Amino acid sequence: LNEALYCIGCGAKVQTVDKNQPGFTPKSALEKALDTNEVYCQRCFRLRHYNEVADVSLTDDDFLALLNRIGEADALIVNVIDIFDFNGSLIPGLHRFVGNNPVLMVGNKEDLLPKSLKRSKLQDWVRQEANKQGLRPLEVVLTSAKKNHSIDRLLALIDKYRQGRDVYVVGVTNVGKSTLINQIIKQKTGISDLITTSRFPGTTLDRIEIPFGDGHDLIDTPGIIHRHQMAHYLSAKTLKLASPQKEIKPKVYQLNEGQTLFLGALARFDYLAGPKQGVVAYLDNNLMIHRTKTQNAASFYDKHAGELLAPPSKDELAKFPKLVRFEFKVDVKSDLVFAGLGWITVKAGTVVAGWAPEGVAVVLRRAMI
Ligand code: GDP
Repeated sequence: LNEALYCIGCGAKVQTVDKNQPGFTPKSALEKALDTNEVYCQRCFRLRHYNEVADVSLTDDDFLALLNRIGEADALIVNVIDIFDFNGSLIPGLHRFVGNNPVLMVGNKEDLLPKSLKRSKLQDWVRQEANKQGLRPLEVVLTSAKKNHSIDRLLALIDKYRQGRDVYVVGVTNVGKSTLINQIIKQKTGISDLITTSRFPGTTLDRIEIPFGDGHDLIDTPGIIHRHQMAHYLSAKTLKLASPQKEIKPKVYQLNEGQTLFLGALARFDYLAGPKQGVVAYLDNNLMIHRTKTQNAASFYDKHAGELLAPPSKDELAKFPKLVRFEFKVDVKSDLVFAGLGWITVKAGTVVAGWAPEGVAVVLRRAMI
């Protein structure tokens, strides 16, 4: 009874303590399995019975080992990113690890974009940002894993580019990779036996393989936790309040210079110089926007963060990083992008500042709309 048990699906050591760690099995399930000595961890059980994938957390060592594996493979790499959080979606050093392997870039959560945004513009932007990171994607595909948009197209492109090779799907957590893999599983199989889990050699990481039928597989890698994601600093509940959940409805705010908008207590926009103008905010429809004078903004934040300005809530604020300021001179109509939250469009001939939690990016890009 004291002997360690290993999941017969993925080989992880079975444990009943932490459901986010590999090998987690509920006590009740473990008791049932003790007669036979055969047990699937909860993740493998779900995968077999419901065709569903769940995330587990991983260490930096495992993460490096994973990237090295990918570098050594002869494979097509599919890199899934969240189009609302390009910076938070980056896998540090990915371009070095992919080596000569071709990369297909998937910009997920397309359903959140307003209809007025030309998709081709966004694809161009994603490509440019990828290039800046040293990645040269063959193509950029915009998908909605949640709404099942363009998954067919993605699968067609994968077939076109993999040329008889394996396919590794990589991404940081929260970009929607699990949702995407679940969609792919639904479309490709429907038969749980076709899905196997095994481990990346030399790591404790699970891998999920969806066979193409020619001896090659589509391999799902665990989500990589990225410290520069807004998601990293927020609880699951707060994250839902902060990040867009439905198609964004742009909102216009008439601002004079010297005025500030707080995006909950998560971020801040200062209109520093320029004529009175309507700035357009593309943010979660329910995120509380609060206007105040820039002059008083700092003391206003200290006084009201966690209450009038929320999320995050008062108790979460203790662990929330302080806001850091980025100033920009705007020469052409531009979007000030708050990684993970959305963006605010400002006209040319102005000076603005964006504030975000330390570690989370604020960037200026040419206006998308
Ligand atoms: P993973 O950590 O990358 O595997 O991400 P998940 O699949 O767990 O998704 C993270 C969050 O993003 C969840 O709240 C999903 O519901 C949401 N999500 C995933 N794909 C989409 C999408 O295409 N559109 C929208 N709006 N939300 C999505």
